[in-house]
Amino acid sequence: SAPVLAIDGPGGAGKGTISRLVAERLGWHLLDSGALYRLTALAAGKHGVALDDEPGLASVAAALDVVFVADVETTRILLEGQDATATIRTEQVGDAASRVAALSAVRDSLLSRQRDFRKPPGLVADGRDMGTVVFTDAPLKIFLTASAEERARRRQLQLREAGVNASLSSLLKEIQARDARDMQRSVAPLKPADDAITLDTTRLTIPEVVDRLTELLTE
Ligand code: C5P
Repeated sequence: SAPVLAIDGPGGAGKGTISRLVAERLGWHLLDSGALYRLTALAAGKHGVALDDEPGLASVAAALDVVFVADVETTRILLEGQDATATIRTEQVGDAASRVAALSAVRDSLLSRQRDFRKPPGLVADGRDMGTVVFTDAPLKIFLTASAEERARRRQLQLREAGVNASLSSLLKEIQARDARDMQRSVAPLKPADDAITLDTTRLTIPEVVDRLTELLTE
């Protein structure tokens, strides 16, 4: 089957940007698995399903009506025909996403949908468990990290570009809380796969990371 580049790591390590650029350079498909958890949380809200109703959330995840529309700079995401691209990026939806992502029935519901993204010529898969659960046979697994301080700084810049001011200390707190929840949950906890290569991007630029990953793929 088609090759997969699995890119896992904590939030704010640059996985989204890096995955998109590597997929573009290679002409490969892209899976933003975090978006699926965010969309599940958003759809649950729309349909009045509580964030602790595991079977209800699993049904919402299985029935998710989502279309990814590849654009030049980003991918537009339609949920039930409505543009959800910006809505799913809010802190509130991110927080809800990390709660629904801790439920194993929800994760199971999203498994085959994620695997369907694997098509020739290849797939760049961005998430937390791409190398440990979803694509265990991926020929290259990368664990992308950066210090929590650096990730808070990057998030602040990103928000500033969107016209939002947030303090570094509050962003750092949010990042640390999200990390703790992702690493300590009992299902698919965030950790590098045994055969993953860890890449610390704290002192690397985006082009440097993209170059390094393309090098590793052709090695
Ligand atoms: O990467 P992103 O911030 O969009 O992911 C949102 C949340 O979804 C994460 O905090 C994490 O809890 C969850 N997630 C996950 N497994 C993935 C991708 C995301 O549990 N493969």
